[in-house]
Amino acid sequence: MSIKKQMQDHKNRNREKPSFANINLQGPCNYQCFFCLGNDINEGYCHNYLNIHFSKWKNFDKYLIKCKEDGIKKIYLTGQNTDPLLYKYLKELIDYLKIKGFLVGIRTNGVKALEKIDIINSLNDEVGLSIHSLTPEINKKITNHSTIPNWDKIIKSIKIPLRIAIVITRYNKDEILNIIKYFSKYKNINYIQLRCISTDERYSALKEDINCYKELTQYISKNYHYLKSFYTASIYNIYGIEVCLWKTIKTTINSYNYFTNGIISTNYFIVEGYKKHNEK
Ligand code: SF4
Repeated sequence: MSIKKQMQDHKNRNREKPSFANINLQGPCNYQCFFCLGNDINEGYCHNYLNIHFSKWKNFDKYLIKCKEDGIKKIYLTGQNTDPLLYKYLKELIDYLKIKGFLVGIRTNGVKALEKIDIINSLNDEVGLSIHSLTPEINKKITNHSTIPNWDKIIKSIKIPLRIAIVITRYNKDEILNIIKYFSKYKNINYIQLRCISTDERYSALKEDINCYKELTQYISKNYHYLKSFYTASIYNIYGIEVCLWKTIKTTINSYNYFTNGIISTNYFIVEGYKKHNEK
């Protein structure tokens, strides 16, 4: 059986009622992570909606109405192939979603976090910072950029609930426990999420990284104290902070997805849902 088929078969399609929604912005990114889901879609940056006001996004209000009708309260601003802090009308968008009655959070690589700290602190839900390395050479291999954002200053400046997400790769696997130890000193970080690379199209190229996740999480499960589970993901205590072993294809959590070119998907799997609706 091909690796792709094996991975498709392992996807948990037994999902719960959607509990949150994403707005997936499209445009060029200030990072070029080798595992970026945008690479699975392979449309390059042909869609750039970063300078387009959300009142002009196709189907956007239709999406918000669907979220309301289906009882979704939380909306996360994230990127299909870009970082949401690069969106020109971000503050207006957050205000608009809040007026519509949603809790609004963001997922960001943090490069622009200090510049946009007031906007971040205007959110009324969680900020998720993606931090894959504290070592310039390793960050370069993962994101194509060696500069490490000033995480100490950023984390101290954030006044809303905060979590860190780290994608496990062949490059940072030996650094993960040190990264957890480093951030365990901050009391305003709710938890750290370790993520397995997610791909629908590049299993062979990313298999080594997926295996690194498996090895590391097996090590953690044998050596650290298990606390609880969250939508099938196990949570451990490492250096006094909660560390969640998140495996996108296994979780039972569910969400809706909007893409700024007008695609609405009720599929949790971002690439799969996008492609299905894009082909229509
Ligand atoms: S920061 Fe996010 S959107 Fe940008 S390249 Fe990395 S994974 Fe892709």
